[in-house]
Amino acid sequence: MEQKINYKKSLGQNFIYDINLLNAIVSDGEVEATDTVLEIGAGVGSLTKVLCQRAHKVISFEIDKNLIPYLENLKQKYKNLTLHYQDFMLADIQSLNLHNARVVANIPYYITTPIIFKLIDNINYFKSILVLIQKEVAERFSAKPKTKDYGITSVILQSIFDVRITRIIKKECFTPSPKVDSALIKLVPHNKYSIEDFDGFKKFVQNAFSMRRKTLINNLKLLYDKAQLENALTKLNYNINVRPEEISVEDFIKLYFYLKN
Ligand code: SAM
Repeated sequence: MEQKINYKKSLGQNFIYDINLLNAIVSDGEVEATDTVLEIGAGVGSLTKVLCQRAHKVISFEIDKNLIPYLENLKQKYKNLTLHYQDFMLADIQSLNLHNARVVANIPYYITTPIIFKLIDNINYFKSILVLIQKEVAERFSAKPKTKDYGITSVILQSIFDVRITRIIKKECFTPSPKVDSALIKLVPHNKYSIEDFDGFKKFVQNAFSMRRKTLINNLKLLYDKAQLENALTKLNYNINVRPEEISVEDFIKLYFYLKN
């Protein structure tokens, strides 16, 4: 099967055929026999097949119509599989009737962030998200304060999820091999904070990190009064010259609320 396919780089087609690795991915996703699983990017269905064997129901998206014969073949065998041959970014998640579902997917790298943000917008339908993405992106998502990787996406994702890399997957494990290694990253909603105006919070974090080398106050001084900023930082026991990467996720949320009110 591997030889016949005309892999499309533009669609992020880096497939996995190693059955042990596919089983390990599904295990990291904690997929159980009662679960409904959403997969984005079925490819020829190698991960889809293992998901069908382990889950109650699998809903899978694939944009490349050339792969339909492989997937229709799989559908004949697995009656718990539903396929959508369309761009996931245009899909209406609400219409899928998901409840407490899991996401397990080797997603196309060129739209990693848009996919994650689409899932966040629909987070009420999911209990966990396990996605295979580029290693360096996964390291940014899971980075801790005071490290070089800690930034906008670390704060935004960790304000909603416990974020953990479950395993590193070497580039040689894919067909064709991409240029860099990958990582499986697991996102589990922690419900620690209730941020009602999430779009406002996202913009706040983006502004806070607008110039990484500058202090937080310098980055935010066009949006807030300087005395108000100093006051908020002092209340949270930070020096007024603190830089954005030194502020914890929890304190970003506190700061946002102080400054909003
Ligand atoms: N799941 C397969 C595997 O692990 O071998 C394939 C993974 S491959 C990294 C990503 C897949 O996503 C490709 O088959 C690609 O055609 C598909 N894809 C790319 N963009 C997509 C989109 N916008 N919506 C749905 N599928 C997409």
